[in-house]
Amino acid sequence: MSFTLEPIGVVQSCFSGKFGIPRQSGLASAARAVLEFYPPFDQAEAFSGLEECSHLWVEFIFHQFKVGEFRPRVRPPRLGGNRSIGVFATRAPNRPNRLGLSVVRLDQVEVRQGKARLHISGHDLLDGTPIIDIKPYVPYADALPQSHNSIAPAPPTLIPVRFSQPALEQCQNESARLGQALQPLIEQLLAQDPRPQYQQPDPERRYAMTLFDLDVAWHYWLEGESHGVEVCSVRRQTSDVRRLTSDV
Ligand code: SAH
Repeated sequence: MSFTLEPIGVVQSCFSGKFGIPRQSGLASAARAVLEFYPPFDQAEAFSGLEECSHLWVEFIFHQFKVGEFRPRVRPPRLGGNRSIGVFATRAPNRPNRLGLSVVRLDQVEVRQGKARLHISGHDLLDGTPIIDIKPYVPYADALPQSHNSIAPAPPTLIPVRFSQPALEQCQNESARLGQALQPLIEQLLAQDPRPQYQQPDPERRYAMTLFDLDVAWHYWLEGESHGVEVCSVRRQTSDVRRLTSDV
């Protein structure tokens, strides 16, 4: 038996590149997106009542993950890249049907001329991600306080983030141009330290991620045992910034 899935819509997201996207939903509350739906799924009627729910499940396709031969084991970057576990014990994109599942905050159901769009936040979705389905989050059934997962027991440890003076000014200008609060978003994303955990923080190395049409560049500083991030520029995209591909 096989099934053909038709996307019902697409995600318009702040994340224009894979590197730096949080490793799960719910980790960066400042990350916003709009879910747009294709006809006939965009009818406001199909969303009637949804405004009574604070959160949603979004089922989507990891469309930017290249399908290859099935590999039963993965090395999650979170585990330092040196422990391999079964793909079905992870939330990694390299799964047989490339189906993703994220729980996000529903900020607004926008209805215009009988068509609905959903404004969400706290997501981990790449711009252009195809949406397969959405469902309301049902706290009594979906929140399980007694549950545990010893592979991913806690959210990532946060590291300090600061901005150089020029980067802060660029950030303020770009925020005004885009009409987006970029500083809290960048702070939340970089505090999670997107660097693959097997790489030592190297102050000489410049890292960059893309947000909207911007390249956000940073480097690491070391002080004794601790390290943190300094954002060094927030600029309209150019092609000469060294870019890391996704480490997921
Ligand atoms: N919450 C989801 C996703 C977890 S993996 C789930 O559990 O199924 C999260 C990573 O997926 C992000 O770090 C991002 O790099 C990657 N990602 C998000 N959207 C993607 C897409 N459309 N294609 C490929 N990778 C994507």
